[in-house]
Formats: sequence, structure tokens, C-alpha cells
Amino acid sequence: MKNKNKYILLYFSFISLLFVSLYTTEILQNKSIESQKNILIKQAQTHFADQINIRKWSSSFGGIYVKANDTLKPNPYLQDNTLKAADGQTLIKINPAWMIRQLSEFSNTQNFNFHIVGVNPLNPNNKANEFEKRALEYLVKNDEHEYYELKENSSFNYMGALVTTPSCIPCHVEQNYKVGAIEGGISVSLDATNYNEFVLYIEEKIFYIRIIIAVLLLSITLLLHRQIKNNDELVDEVSDKDKEVHSTKVLLQEVLDTDLSFLMVAKGKKLILANKTMLNFFNCNSLNEFIKKHGHLSNFFVAVENKDFLTAYVDDEHWVPYLYREQNNKEIKVLMKKDNKNRYFKAHSRKKMIDNNEVYIIIFDEITKELQTIKTLTDEASKDALTNLFNRGKFNDVLSKEISLAQTTGSPLSIIFLDIDHFKAVNDTYGHDIGDYVLIEIAKILTSTIRQGDFVARWGGEEFVITLQSTTSEQASILANKIRKNIENYNFKNGGKQTVSLGVTQYIYQESQSDFIKRVDEALYEAKASGRNIVVTKE
Ligand code: GH3
Ligand code: MG
Ligand code: MG
Repeated sequence: MKNKNKYILLYFSFISLLFVSLYTTEILQNKSIESQKNILIKQAQTHFADQINIRKWSSSFGGIYVKANDTLKPNPYLQDNTLKAADGQTLIKINPAWMIRQLSEFSNTQNFNFHIVGVNPLNPNNKANEFEKRALEYLVKNDEHEYYELKENSSFNYMGALVTTPSCIPCHVEQNYKVGAIEGGISVSLDATNYNEFVLYIEEKIFYIRIIIAVLLLSITLLLHRQIKNNDELVDEVSDKDKEVHSTKVLLQEVLDTDLSFLMVAKGKKLILANKTMLNFFNCNSLNEFIKKHGHLSNFFVAVENKDFLTAYVDDEHWVPYLYREQNNKEIKVLMKKDNKNRYFKAHSRKKMIDNNEVYIIIFDEITKELQTIKTLTDEASKDALTNLFNRGKFNDVLSKEISLAQTTGSPLSIIFLDIDHFKAVNDTYGHDIGDYVLIEIAKILTSTIRQGDFVARWGGEEFVITLQSTTSEQASILANKIRKNIENYNFKNGGKQTVSLGVTQYIYQESQSDFIKRVDEALYEAKASGRNIVVTKE
């Protein structure tokens, strides 16, 4: 949800709850006041009913006669208003209306009073006051039986209707009363002080309750408002940080990508970052794609029997910590294959503790070209510049390896020693350049005549040596003769015809390399001594 909507919802809830609480307290207040009012009404109805009963009783006798006294004068509005008793005492007629009026005078001493009024009263005392007029008018007009008014700080005024009954008719014959019609009423006026006090009390209490509820709701709303604001600020902060982290990541990736080496970051043993150089090497666009396609980088490490080269585990140690630990002791390398070609890398790493995690920054520098250059240089150092054959030094290395192989396998090993006959004369006759040319041509003949696995080298001057794996001296002698013939039959341009002498011998188990060479040299010597252009085998 958007921030604005949250605030709208919050304040909408606040206003709604405020209205609900105002409405609820209003109902509570009205109910309380209503019940108090009902008490007043009940009181008034009770007083009214009392008067009605008394009136009924009186009218059931058509009025009553009482003894006259000093204060009581006959009612001039009544017929037969006096009566002489048998003892001569005058009795005065009291009709129901007059009786009620008299009783009402007593009620004035208490906290209520009542008054009988007529619509068209005979007696002016029964004339209605302002309230009574309104009440009578209302009752007659609406044919209702009661009416009341309760005004603030005033007494409670009630009026009950006097409905004409047949017993009323004798007294009111002249007024043309009709049975069932409302011709008057009895008003009851009650002291409403308690009621008014109660109203004030309940209004005051409700007012305070409303204030408390409003303050509580407002406090909660403000608290929530602050909470939402804090949350929003926090969300903004987190989003800012996110952006910062993202741009740092992008920048970091850019920096990593500009490097031509493989640059990788591993958290523990797991790669978490890799630059473009690494990803491009494996034709991947992202590290995720690489992991999905290939799993571990170490799957590409070609096993080399040399602990300088990384494999997934070296001596049971994962390559990442192994590299970090061993890099100072030796140059750690990695061999991988791409398009069936060997690619060599020099590896090194740095370790950082980040949030209690070991993080390694790993770099693979490609050294394939450098290694090739070194190999070329090494090859060149072991090669003879004129004939491009390997030199004596290389020959000795190769022979030493062949000897140890022959020792372990027990397979035969032979060598041929070759010397150009009267080569000095070539130089002398045709010149040194032609001498060089002859050397080059003989080297070519040798290379083309020997078999796979045989190894030829220039021993020095006009002398050449050949090692022959898994070859006995007899077989070597056959090859030597083949060489001899090929050279004998070859036409050296400007160099005439040339011959060579060859010594052949087979390795004797456990003899030294120098003894082996010495014997073939002796064989060659014998060949020379025997007249040249010959092969001599010495066992
Ligand atoms: P033999 O039949 O007894 O071997 O006689 P030879 O003349 O071949 O032997 P000798 O040892 O007397 O002479 C070898 C000659 O080879 C001497 C030297 O000038 C020549 N030679 C050695 N190295 C080279 C080279 O690189 N180029 C040329 N043109 N000649 C060389
Ligand atoms: Mg020689
Ligand atoms: Mg020679």
C-alpha cells in the first residue's frame, strides 16, 4: 500500500471511531435521561389516576354534601348547592370538580400540585393557565389522553384528559357535555429538580467520557502516524541502502570486468562473484548460468601429477583454502582445456573476514603464452641451430630417461653412433658452406629414415647419435645400414657423394650411461678402422 493511502486509512479510522463513540455516548446519555423522565411521567400518571379515582367516586354519587363551616360557601354554579339536614344543619354540595380543586389546594404544600381545568369551565377557578391551554388544545385536537412538557430548569407539567362519563352529565347538563368527549383535564406539576440535576450530571459525565475517548483515540492515531512515518523512513533508508549496495555491486562488477585475469570471489568455498573474463572463457553470461551449466569451477581443472597444479581437492584439502595457504611456498598453477587446447593459469588469492565469513578474492592469470615462450626457449637451448636436431645435452637427458625405462620394463634399448667419412675434405674441397649444407642434408636423411619413437641428435661436429626404444642391436644394425645406404646413394648438390661410418650397440642391464656411450664409440672407431662406410655392432 502506498504511504498516502496508509495515512488516509488511519485518519478515516480515527474519525469513524470518534463518530461511533460520540454516537454511542449520545445514545447512552439519551437512554439515561429518558429513563429518568419516565419516572417523572409515571409519578404524574399515578397522581392523575388518584384524582380520577376520587373524582369517579364523587361523581358516582352525583357529588357529595358536606357540613358547612365558616370558610365553605355554597357553590353558586351548582344546582341544589345546599341541603337542609333533618337536624336543620345546612349541607353544602361539593361536585367532583370542586372536590378536586379543594384537594389540589392541599397538594400545594407538597412537592407537586395539580389542578383541574375545563375547556369551558363554569367556575373561573377552573380556567386553564398557559400550559394547560396548550395541553387541552392538544388533547382535544388529537383525541389523546395525556400531554406533558419538560423544559429545562422548569417543573414537569403533565396533563391527563378528563373524558365525559354518564355520571358527569347531571352536573354539566347546561354545558352540553357529551359522553366520551374531552371536556377538561387534570394537570399535574412535579418538582423536576432531581431530574434536572441528573441531566446536568449525566451530560457532564458523558462530556468527560467523550473528551477521554477523543484524547485516547487521538493519541493512538498520532502514535500510529509516527510509527508509519518511522516505518516509511526506515523503508526509504533501506531502499536507499539497497540502491547504494546495488550501485556498489555494479561498480565492483565493472572493476572486476575490466581485468583480463579471471577474478572471482568465494564465500567460504562457494563462488559468489566472477568477472567477464572468467565467464566469457566458459561462454556464460552470468555466474548463475555457469553454476547451473557446469557446477564447480574445479570440474575444469585438469589433473596433473604435480601439487603445483590445482585439482578440486589437493591432499584432501579444498582448492580454495589450499591455494591461499600454499601460494607463498610455491607458484600454484591451474591447467584447463578449451577447444582441446591446454590453457595454463597462475593462481593466487587474498582472504578477508567479512561478517565472520571467510571471503577469498581469487585471481587466475593466464600464462599459456609465457609457458609456450619458455618451452620454445628451452627447446631452442636444447637444439642445434644448424641442423635443427636436438643437441648432445638433450640427447643425454633423453638417453637417461630411456635407460631408466629400459631398466624397469626390461625392454631392449640400442644406440647408433654416426660419423661422416673424411668430412674435413668436404670443407677443404667445396668450402665450409657446402660442409654445412651436407650436415643439414644428412640430418634430414636421418630424420626421415628413423622410426616413430626413435630419437636423433647431433652429437657434435659431423657426428650424430640415435636412440632406439625396444630395439635389439641386430634390429638397430639393420636400421644403421639403411641409413648408411640412403646417404651413400644421396646426391649432395655441389657436395658430391658422401659416406658415413656407424657404430651400433645394445644397452647392458645396469651398466652406466657413459659405459653404454663408450662402447658405441668403440664400435664407430672400429668401423673407421675397418675402412669406413660400414656398420660395426659391438655387443
Ligand atoms: P674421418 O673419416 O676419420 O672421420 O675423417 P674426418 O675428416 O671426417 O675427421 P676429422 O675429425 O679429421 O675432421 C672433422 C671435420 O669436420 C673437421 C671440421 O672442420 C669439420 N667440421 C666440424 N664441424 C663442422 C661444421 O659445423 N661445419 C663444417 N662445414 N665443418 C665442420
Ligand atoms: Mg669425427
Ligand atoms: Mg669424420
